[in-house]
Amino acid sequence: MKQCFLRVALDSPLDLCFDYRWQGKVEGDAEAPQAGQLVVVPFGRREVVAVIISVEAATAVPEGKLKNALAVRRELPSLTPQWQALCAFAAAYYHRPLGEVMLPGLPKNLRAIKPTSLDRALKKSAKAQATGPAHDGTPATAPALNPAQSHAATTIAAARGFVPTLLYGVTGSGKTEVYLQAAAAILAAAEAGAEGADSAVGDALGGAQILILVPEINLTPQLEANVRARFPSVAVATLHSGLAEGERLTHWLAAHLGHARIILGTRLAILASLPHLKLIVIDEEHDPSYKQQEGLRYSARDLAVWRARQLDIPIVLGSATPSLETWHHAQSGRYRKLVLRERAVKDAQLPTVKLIDMERDKPVEGLTATLIAALKLRLARGEQSLLFLNRRGYAPVIACDACGWISNCTRCTAFMVLHKLDRQLRCHHCGLEQRIPRHCPTCGNIDIQPLGRGTQRVEEGLQAIFPAARIMRIDADSTRRKGSAQAAFDQVHRGDVDILIGTQMVAKGHDFQNLTLVGVLNPDTALFSQDYRASERLFAQLMQVAGRAGRRARTADGNPGEVLIQTRYPQHPLFAAVMAQDYEHFAGALLEERQQAGLPPFIYHALLRAEAKELQVALDFLQEARLCLPHEGIVMNDPIPMTMTRVANVDRAQLLVESVSRPGLQAFLTEWIVALRAMKSRVRWSLEVDPVDI
Ligand code: ADP
Ligand code: ZN
Ligand code: ZN
Repeated sequence: MKQCFLRVALDSPLDLCFDYRWQGKVEGDAEAPQAGQLVVVPFGRREVVAVIISVEAATAVPEGKLKNALAVRRELPSLTPQWQALCAFAAAYYHRPLGEVMLPGLPKNLRAIKPTSLDRALKKSAKAQATGPAHDGTPATAPALNPAQSHAATTIAAARGFVPTLLYGVTGSGKTEVYLQAAAAILAAAEAGAEGADSAVGDALGGAQILILVPEINLTPQLEANVRARFPSVAVATLHSGLAEGERLTHWLAAHLGHARIILGTRLAILASLPHLKLIVIDEEHDPSYKQQEGLRYSARDLAVWRARQLDIPIVLGSATPSLETWHHAQSGRYRKLVLRERAVKDAQLPTVKLIDMERDKPVEGLTATLIAALKLRLARGEQSLLFLNRRGYAPVIACDACGWISNCTRCTAFMVLHKLDRQLRCHHCGLEQRIPRHCPTCGNIDIQPLGRGTQRVEEGLQAIFPAARIMRIDADSTRRKGSAQAAFDQVHRGDVDILIGTQMVAKGHDFQNLTLVGVLNPDTALFSQDYRASERLFAQLMQVAGRAGRRARTADGNPGEVLIQTRYPQHPLFAAVMAQDYEHFAGALLEERQQAGLPPFIYHALLRAEAKELQVALDFLQEARLCLPHEGIVMNDPIPMTMTRVANVDRAQLLVESVSRPGLQAFLTEWIVALRAMKSRVRWSLEVDPVDI
């Protein structure tokens, strides 16, 4: 090759790769560009960083239009072919441009034309413990595993090749311990292999990397502390959206260079460069937050399974309430199933779950007499309680008794939520903020009242009922400042809090030691939701939050933890399943319903969304889209307005596409998206594969 051309992916909405002329050294030279390297190229009037996809001997771009690539970033080792293939798969499967998958996940500094102090960052990442606080070096002793845990850990570590495993373990069954001991075995085996074998094999192993994903940022510190204590001599990296840019770069590089052996992260970490990946763990795999809900709407869990198959390595999906997709695979034998039926801590039992009928026991300040008495008992015993209410703010709406006015958002199909502490009404969908009106905007009545209650109002009520109690609220409002969520959880763990009130932020994953009571304030709205996944989610959520109770010792009188659920529908079958804590029966029944109704996981969905100033324009676009291609074997539903039709003055509609065949659906979508792009409509549209909210 005398001359060569670089085919690159760059962050542009155009679904294309672009060719550039390379003027430097070519093939055969150590300095010749390679696929997987970053390169600076001119694009429009700017210069941007791109990823080299391939080096070509010829290009179809006419000479006059061809531009020169500017500089290859040689100091950074190439992104591996496996990483490129993962991105290519995600781009193809979700029908997004390759550059949009590859580039946004890279640290900002690497995407900058002139990266600052990249050399320093590279050096810093190379130091074994650069990415974490120094540790005194003695590993914390691992608890002796119980037989079920031990079987699970050895089975996972012994797996060769692609073995997807569901670790189905009740809350508090010690799943984390299983992950850690399996990880330890795999790291040790890789090290032994690298030392013992001849150098070629050692190089091929290159030490192992283990990726552990958790659903919430605020679960990473607890896990990170555990991991660092247990593996003091192993470099650990964390990857989540809460890192400052500098940290992000150091951690990403530590992973990319292979120095970090254990990588903890939230969903975005699934797209990280991990050249020596040997095991993937998805903790709480059922959690909806593994689904990205904008831009590249990927499922980190699904990509993880793909990545494990591609690399031919084991993957563990852990949950007390697996997603129906995963459960279905486990039942059909496609995934191996390992079960932990008991809590790991000696004598700890699953909590008892009881319902409180709110029609009989009328709540005051949102709390029934039964729940108040239970809280009082915990305060007297010096135990902690958790109240779960999945609604932040003071009240979801304010209203006028005289004329019926309610605080609707003027820009959305939604209420303005009362935030009393900030003296504001706030729309949680478009961000609109207003002062709380002193009187009714339509009739002038000064007696306007909050309706319903959010976490702030419950906190206020609790303070009035228990003036001496130490009450802590944790929700998105109370934890806006960086680090404040961590500080709040630390206080709970230290025992400086008697009653914790919070949203789903407090419901999952946390290992509270001294917490014996969980109260669920108002789960009823989800019982009658349109969304076919609502009951699966509510069940998982209730089991998760219930699982925070009684994780340690028993109560003073020898009882396990207690969960009290306030409801107006105590007869609802979902609650019977929650009380029995019988996931398997519940999942079996739901799967049967899904099969009969023709819903996932028995059918595959894609959703075309359209946005316009007027609803009809969006609907018309979808109607046209619906008819623009023949679609044998594909069911095209009618276009409909989305449940929350208007957000920020834009109307939204959707068209659901179904098929019994995933490849069939994919083949159709590939053609369809070309046709949609050709429609040249001014409507903004997006296509989502495997949507979870329909
Ligand atoms: P899960 O993730 O399954 O809900 P965790 O991994 O948080 O459960 O473990 C629950 C608690 O049990 C933790 O405090 C953990 O330290 C403890 N634990 C785990 N395994 C053992 C064991 N074999 N012996 C004693 N305690 C254990
Ligand atoms: Zn009024
Ligand atoms: Zn709004």
